[in-house]
Amino acid sequence: MHEMWCGADTSGEPVWHVLTADKASTLCGVEKREDARRQHATDRHCFPCMKTFQTVVESR
Ligand SMILES: [Zn+2]
Repeated sequence: MHEMWCGADTSGEPVWHVLTADKASTLCGVEKREDARRQHATDRHCFPCMKTFQTVVESR
């Protein structure tokens, strides 16, 4: 339902964000840039996205 997207966080490090339902932006509000390649895979996850995602899931 919610897709993951690997992009830079506020400090420029690659992290996994969670996309909104319409896939236009991330849950934490970081701009989803189409030019960002997915090659820089990471095991780090965006904490604001994770917290928001958890809230969304638990509210169902
Ligand atoms: Zn995020």
